[in-house]
Amino acid sequence: MNAQELLRLDRAHVWHPYGPMPGTADPYVVESAAGVRLRLADGRELVDGMASWWAAVHGYRHPVLDAAVTDQLGRMSHVMFGGLTHAPAVTLARRLVEAAPGELAHVFLCDSGSVAVEVAVKMALQYWRSAGRSAKRRLATWRGGYHGDTFHPMSVCDPEGGMHQLWRGVLPAQVFAPPPPGGADAPVDPGYVAALETTLAAHAPELAAVIVEPVVQGAGGMRFHHPGYLRALRELCDAHDILLIFDEIATGFGRTGEFFAAAHAGVAPDVLCVGKALTGGYLSLAAALCTPRVARGISRGAVPVLAHGPTFMGNPLACAVANASLDLLDTGAWRADVARISAGLAAGLAPLRAVPGVADVRVLGAIGVVQTAGPVPVDRAAAAAIAEGVWLRPFRDLIYVMPPYITDDSDIARLCRGVGAAVEASV
Ligand code: PLP
Repeated sequence: MNAQELLRLDRAHVWHPYGPMPGTADPYVVESAAGVRLRLADGRELVDGMASWWAAVHGYRHPVLDAAVTDQLGRMSHVMFGGLTHAPAVTLARRLVEAAPGELAHVFLCDSGSVAVEVAVKMALQYWRSAGRSAKRRLATWRGGYHGDTFHPMSVCDPEGGMHQLWRGVLPAQVFAPPPPGGADAPVDPGYVAALETTLAAHAPELAAVIVEPVVQGAGGMRFHHPGYLRALRELCDAHDILLIFDEIATGFGRTGEFFAAAHAGVAPDVLCVGKALTGGYLSLAAALCTPRVARGISRGAVPVLAHGPTFMGNPLACAVANASLDLLDTGAWRADVARISAGLAAGLAPLRAVPGVADVRVLGAIGVVQTAGPVPVDRAAAAAIAEGVWLRPFRDLIYVMPPYITDDSDIARLCRGVGAAVEASV
């Protein structure tokens, strides 16, 4: 099929994320991807600034990950997980437990980040229901977050600036606090913590859990906050009998400079959600991990099981490639790579602060963000980056990169030029 015909059929039949039907803007046709480069059908090669939305931390066609999938294919690609188990899933669960903060000992494997958040919420609600406290069924969060596109996750996304306003009145009504102020380096504001406590205390009898993205709020606004707010949250949740859920679907597996972002704060949640980079971006897999306290609580209930069981739960191919991705991360090389990328992005993006129309430039771990004073014309900005040989996907007022950890210094410099071109096309 030639690229023109492919695009015609794409427009006619294929939904894209947050897209209309029939399609209006033509997506770019990718033919292959290797290392940090996407190869388009017209032969252009683009350095990938997005790591396929946080996921492809080792780049594409990594020989170790390719081999893991091929080896597993030779044994079995999928079997149901009800009544059966297998080494790839059990190995992965054990490794996640070992890597996770605190006492997160029980792993629910599922297909996508949104479902991991659904499962985490079900764990929290069922924990309180089993304890005879079914009034505790609401969630609290801070505004500006993003937790996925199914119903519970949508209900804890930003209710105002966010993408799910359409569903106002349909979604479960949750409790919102403002996002933590100040950025990653600003000191913790005791006034903010006191206000947070007032909110949580007032709603504690109906709150099952607080759910937040630790240190980096991603798709809700690419905002960073001081880890001290997570310590405060842990204390407040303990004091007011509320479970704490960390959504590390974007931040997990090294992106912020720690293996899990919770480590910046030295605290552990009661439930942890992971996804995206779990398989190095190869296959769709996510997980919700909980503590023995949560699992035991659920087991003591009138319905002593966690009533969730996706068809593709524990998919062996996905688990095998996740184990191989953890092998790569186990070498520890990611730490130096993330620090190197962080320094490269900080140096390369800093000059954009002086550009009129740029409101902020911020870097944390292997994440670089330029915020503009007004909305970014997404297609024009992306095209400007493509002209520099760079793939970006800006949204709202944000032009940002979170590249694969294997991106070398010259490609980081190229990414920064791509961001600069996108900024120029936007302000
Ligand atoms: N939580 C966070 C923090 C995310 O960034 C995302 C996806 O961007 C999700 C949840 C949802 O994950 P998925 O797209 O795999 O459903």
